Amino acid sequence: MNSIIFLIILLAIYYYIYQNYYDRFEEKYHTYFYIFIGIYIVILYIYHFEYEFFYRLLKSIYDTNNQSLYKIDSQYQNSTSLETGNPLLGFNIKETLLNKQNGRCSACSNFIMNSDLQHSKLKYKRDLKNGGQNNVENIGLVCNGCYEFQ
Ligand SMILES: [Zn+2]
Repeated sequence: MNSIIFLIILLAIYYYIYQNYYDRFEEKYHTYFYIFIGIYIVILYIYHFEYEFFYRLLKSIYDTNNQSLYKIDSQYQNSTSLETGNPLLGFNIKETLLNKQNGRCSACSNFIMNSDLQHSKLKYKRDLKNGGQNNVENIGLVCNGCYEFQ
């Protein structure tokens, strides 16, 4: 209610100034004042009648700002079956390599997201024809781009 009284006082002051300094007034001052009053009334309306909407709007902005760009936790999502007791049930060579490589491509070091895991490829770090060994230590997980262009 105070904000309504404030608005009325504001209008009264404006009217008083307009009456007394009529000669110095320009049309654009009216426009500015109308815009200001319009915004003020909209804010008043939202604050009093759409408070929940206002709250949600601000909260979603706040939440979005605090969200991390990469969800590192999501890389461990599929590993939950490890907790069921059978370690082989949840074993996935790509996930294991990805965890070992700290979530990055072994060639270009870009992040590989969990959702991109199916597109990533296994690749020998050192080719067999160049003397590389056929064992786990020589296998790296690379992103699709590195697999196709290197
Ligand atoms: Zn890569």
